Amino acid sequence: MLKIMTPGPTQVRENVRLARSREITNPDLEQQFFDFYQDTCRLIGKLIHTDNPVYILGGEGILGLEAACASLTEQGDKVLVLDNGVFGEGFADFVRLYGGEPVLYTTDYREAFDVYKLAEYLKKNHDFKYATVVQCDTPSGVLNDVSRICPLLSSYGILTVVDAVASMFGEVLEVDKSCIDIVCGGSQKVVSAPPGLCFVSVSKRAFISMEKRTAPIASYYGNLLCFKEYYEKKWFPYTMPISDINGLRAALDNIYEDRDILSRHKSIGNGIRQALRKGGLSLYITKGDSNTVTAIEVPTDIKAEDILRIMKEKYHILIAGSIGIMSGKVIRIGHMGENANYSDVAETLKALTKTLRELGFPLTVDLEDIFSEVVRKDIYCQV
Ligand SMILES: *Cc1c(COP(=O)(O)O)cnc(C)c1O
Repeated sequence: MLKIMTPGPTQVRENVRLARSREITNPDLEQQFFDFYQDTCRLIGKLIHTDNPVYILGGEGILGLEAACASLTEQGDKVLVLDNGVFGEGFADFVRLYGGEPVLYTTDYREAFDVYKLAEYLKKNHDFKYATVVQCDTPSGVLNDVSRICPLLSSYGILTVVDAVASMFGEVLEVDKSCIDIVCGGSQKVVSAPPGLCFVSVSKRAFISMEKRTAPIASYYGNLLCFKEYYEKKWFPYTMPISDINGLRAALDNIYEDRDILSRHKSIGNGIRQALRKGGLSLYITKGDSNTVTAIEVPTDIKAEDILRIMKEKYHILIAGSIGIMSGKVIRIGHMGENANYSDVAETLKALTKTLRELGFPLTVDLEDIFSEVVRKDIYCQV
């Protein structure tokens, strides 16, 4: 069995897998299911600190991002796309697909957005219907401070769409306090359920904007307005994947009961970064590290694919490469959700230590020793 240490999909706990095999009902016809769905959506809302309604959509993380853009964008709308990573830039494609005009605000992919510089930019440029921003851009692991960025955008009347797929529940996310109009999450990252579901919260302002459109939303599956009255009407726009939602609920209950989840992510993320730096490796991100994923620069004269292959074949641990401009240049450890536990991370670092030495990289210390030293002080990791 391979140990999954990728930044999504992540490890899935047994109670989540078992919940997916429970007997099912017809989710279109049973009142009980509508209550269960609503209750599960409310649990998500509680965990991300919002009173806005939350909807679970029947599709992978990407569906949430596309649905947000499909529902908000009208022909010719100017949309500010905050771009310091692959997913950040990717929003421009969705905006264009639905007839909008993306305006890219592109900064160094190695750093989180500088909020002061963004504030300067917005003084002169603020004529946008909405803006998109990614909290943790997974291919690099950069963490953007949406708690400062979104209120700033919102002060200009710009609606905010946040992709929090890779950070939700692993990093602080306070949707209402941060003035986030639509936030997107997914099942296969920190949540630690199998891939297949995403969820969004939608503010009143965002719904009003959708209702005021002159042209209809150019999507059915991605039309968020269709969900607005599902409970009153006892009607979903399509049959809900009930077994997936049973699994998701078990995963959310695990998170709800896990009072130390944020502290543990922080302490494990910190331990990994310190270990890698002390070992003489360079991290891709120079400012704004996410506690859910770390991208390590591949040392010169070593190939990313060789590291990944040895880790997998010899040590049975699956870590990831990356995509876009980071492709071949970094390897990534996903330390999010169920992956974020002391023993799996220590085992991964032990295997990485051996792998790098086999490939001729002169590591000066054992990575797992440094990691243990750093996290031992933390009660959250139960060393
Ligand atoms: C994983 C992820 C998504 C969803 O992508 P999938 O292809 O559905 O896995 C979206 N945004 C971010 C930042 C992600 O990490």
